[in-house]
Amino acid sequence: MMPSILIIIILFIAFAGSDLLAYFSQIRLNYESGQIRKLFLRPPSVFEEKRRLMEPVLLNHIDFYRHLSPVAKVKFLYRCAAFMQRKRFIGKEELEITEEMKMLISAAAVQLTFGLREFQLEHFDTIIVYPGVYTSPLTGANHLGETSIKGVIVLSWQHFLEGYKSSTDKINLGLHEMAHALDLSRMVKASDPFFHAYFVKWHAVAGETFNEVNQEEEHFLRKYSGTNDREFFAVSVEHFFEDPQEFKKNLPHLYRHLSILLRQDPVALGLSQHTLLSWVSNQPTWNKRDVHMLKHFQSDFPFWYATKWMMLPLGFFILISAMNSGEDLQFATLLLTSRFFIGVIQFFFRSRIVEVIDNFVVVRSAVFPFMTKSFAMENIISIRYDLHRKGSVHLVYLQEGEVHSAVYSIGLSREDYESFKNAMSNKDVSMSY
Ligand SMILES: [Zn+2]
Repeated sequence: MMPSILIIIILFIAFAGSDLLAYFSQIRLNYESGQIRKLFLRPPSVFEEKRRLMEPVLLNHIDFYRHLSPVAKVKFLYRCAAFMQRKRFIGKEELEITEEMKMLISAAAVQLTFGLREFQLEHFDTIIVYPGVYTSPLTGANHLGETSIKGVIVLSWQHFLEGYKSSTDKINLGLHEMAHALDLSRMVKASDPFFHAYFVKWHAVAGETFNEVNQEEEHFLRKYSGTNDREFFAVSVEHFFEDPQEFKKNLPHLYRHLSILLRQDPVALGLSQHTLLSWVSNQPTWNKRDVHMLKHFQSDFPFWYATKWMMLPLGFFILISAMNSGEDLQFATLLLTSRFFIGVIQFFFRSRIVEVIDNFVVVRSAVFPFMTKSFAMENIISIRYDLHRKGSVHLVYLQEGEVHSAVYSIGLSREDYESFKNAMSNKDVSMSY
């Protein structure tokens, strides 16, 4: 009795595990928006007290906050207060940490992670503040700020304030260091799950612009972004918040993917999240009439892969019946016949053909023409081909603002895989096996 219950539970988790996780994270998200709605409709006196203290400071320094809708302002204050409470602030060189400093530094983090679910930058529990330029005990060089994987963010207060003084010079130390912290959070697996998954796409998309920055004399992005991947992300974040209109005009592709990655659109600040999601999911969809478009790759019909679970049992059956007779044969017949029929079912429902047509990857059933799914390149994050467990393709993609994944059985030889990969070059999709 017990083992069968255990098996049912294991099967349930195996099939519904990811759905369950999504369900619970949704509950948590709903909890936060419920809290915010409550604070907005019936603010308790404790919250009113906090708002009286924080709001003037935020309005005075943070342009981003000024432009938020009334509900979004409540969310910002709520998150800011939570962030402040969780961090240890240390003043160096006799700098005394004030409440205002805590608020503004927290505000930089909250602004960056405003669209994400996990906004706390959990891994970073200590924030060290110097009055101005300082000599780093780590590198011995002069710094304005640094962020370490050990969970420490260091800032020059003078430069932090200057970053917010002009909100259009595209320099903002606070956002820069918080961007490093968010980026590094991926390394210790403490980042927002969506951010973590979509960063792969961002990385693939950013490559081209990164090279341009290093090759061209003048570029929209500050030269420093060409230093390495991490600086490229941090500097992009500064431009994203300080000059979103120009960013969107100059680098629309990069802007679009940074918007998706951070789940917010500074150009449409103050508009609802719906507005953002609508242009994000407004993607071309493939239909049968598009077949005339350029076909770059088509996999072969996966004959051996698709039929091996029919052929193998058949072969064994012939072998065993040639060697045996009587009772043993009956059991083997039962076993092999059932495997044969499972193989037939697998052949009909699981075998796929993959095609690269223009800017789409199309996955067709090898048997039923109506079983077709297409993915716009813009939405595909990564494709991993498992050569060892021959034939499975793991596809991660964006759909209606969420990351999904799918596994298909596609028998590709190593050469096939290479031409698949060639057809996918310059498509901003991460390919691996
Ligand atoms: Zn940096």
